[in-house]
Amino acid sequence: MINMEPVIGLEIHAQLNTRTKLFCSCPVGQKAEPNAHICEICAGQPGALPRLNEKAVELAARAVVALGGTVNAFSLFSRKNYFYPDLPNGFQTSQLDPPVGSGGGLNLALADGSEKFIRLNRVHMEDDAGKCVHDEKRDRTLVDLNRAGTPLIEIVTEPDLSSSREAMDFLKQLRGLLTQLEVTRGRLEEGEFRCDVNISLKPVGSETLGVRTEIKNLNSFRYVGQAIDFEIRRQTALYAAGYAIEQQTLHFDHLKAETRPLRSKEEAHDYRYFPQPDLPPVTVSPETVAAIKETLPPSLESVKEKLIASGLTLEIVNNLTATPGALDYFLAALKAHNDPKRLGTLMAELFLPTIRSKGLAPSEAKLTPPKLGQLAQLLAEGKLGKRAAYEMFGELFASGEDPLTLAGAKGLTLVSDAGPLLEWAKEIVAANPEETKLYLGGRKKILSFLVGQVMRRSQGAADPKKAAQALETVLGALSQ
Ligand code: ADP
Ligand code: MG
Ligand code: ZN
Repeated sequence: MINMEPVIGLEIHAQLNTRTKLFCSCPVGQKAEPNAHICEICAGQPGALPRLNEKAVELAARAVVALGGTVNAFSLFSRKNYFYPDLPNGFQTSQLDPPVGSGGGLNLALADGSEKFIRLNRVHMEDDAGKCVHDEKRDRTLVDLNRAGTPLIEIVTEPDLSSSREAMDFLKQLRGLLTQLEVTRGRLEEGEFRCDVNISLKPVGSETLGVRTEIKNLNSFRYVGQAIDFEIRRQTALYAAGYAIEQQTLHFDHLKAETRPLRSKEEAHDYRYFPQPDLPPVTVSPETVAAIKETLPPSLESVKEKLIASGLTLEIVNNLTATPGALDYFLAALKAHNDPKRLGTLMAELFLPTIRSKGLAPSEAKLTPPKLGQLAQLLAEGKLGKRAAYEMFGELFASGEDPLTLAGAKGLTLVSDAGPLLEWAKEIVAANPEETKLYLGGRKKILSFLVGQVMRRSQGAADPKKAAQALETVLGALSQ
């Protein structure tokens, strides 16, 4: 059989971080009795007129700018018609064409340290539906409209993802970005960040996409991974047996970790989209876009570029950006020790492996950023050897103690005082007349041998740079 590869595109719904709903002033996201937070607008009463929430537009535009897309100066709301008991209007108010944002993308950090640009097709605003709640006891279904009218953005990717791993990592990175920008609170368990997964198979290298299925409404990264892997296996088996894939909308059963048909796929024309006559076009001025750009923290891309320019390897940079919170920790530690290279190495070699093995977030570590900065500082000043730093790191991490104090208590600090160093240097020079002669005769390289001897004599406690200086002093006096 020909080799097939997966093609995956995501449609992500993120709940915008507003106080009130998209078209009315009912509060969003507060725990309340069913139907406590509804009004004639979000409950779809005849004749009620929606009014657009400005804050929602601003947050949507913010997301578009942060994702490198174009904020359309002019976008439209449409009615997307379908019937569902928890959709009181009989339509969802969504944006078809033009949406608030077009294009853009995200540089996905891959596990091997490389990157892959995942293109976005569009970002549009829409309102959420209410909820149907099944009352088991009395075998009836109730409708709760508290969620109806909650502002969402939908982010639609191009079909650029190729595995469950990539899809999960993409979602984590996207959620990280949007929560950092406070576009969304992004709480998965609250359904504030959820996605539909589109997936098909195609012969390796082929340009033509295969028939896809769409798995609806996944609100956990793990489910996304499981659903994709199941669907890849299912479609592969169908192709292998000579069947065609049917374009379908699927539901993921997380208890069985399998997908199940929900309905046959609907097309845009099935919804009979038409312009929402009750809402004027949405306009976003160039000034607003410029103002948003001003307030955005530097993009991950530019932060990465800066770090690489400061001497960090791409591997270390990706290591920092792949672990949520690691970059913030690193930047905080830089305030205590402004050498990105030394600090980045400590992060990649000691700190990050340790927090990963303990399942902690960087912010939960007892070893705070200033303390890690101090550790780097001790290394830089030669007060602590690299080996000693690595040796004591486990204890330092567990206790969160002051690095200098701990190193002192363990007898790991380096001797850099001139007194003992000069004593050792004299001793070594006296004990190695051959090498001393060679050095004085011009073989300057022999110094490193002598430094090694001082290190041995001091049982590793001497600061090697200072030891070299002490030796030079002693040898200099001899040459006169
Ligand atoms: P719809 O709105 O009908 O779901 P779109 O064309 O807007 O369809 O695409 C929705 C998502 O499906 C996008 O993320 C897109 O990248 C993805 N997609 C489209 N075609 C395929 C395909 N053949 N295989 C995998 N994903 C696809
Ligand atoms: Mg879709
Ligand atoms: Zn309302």
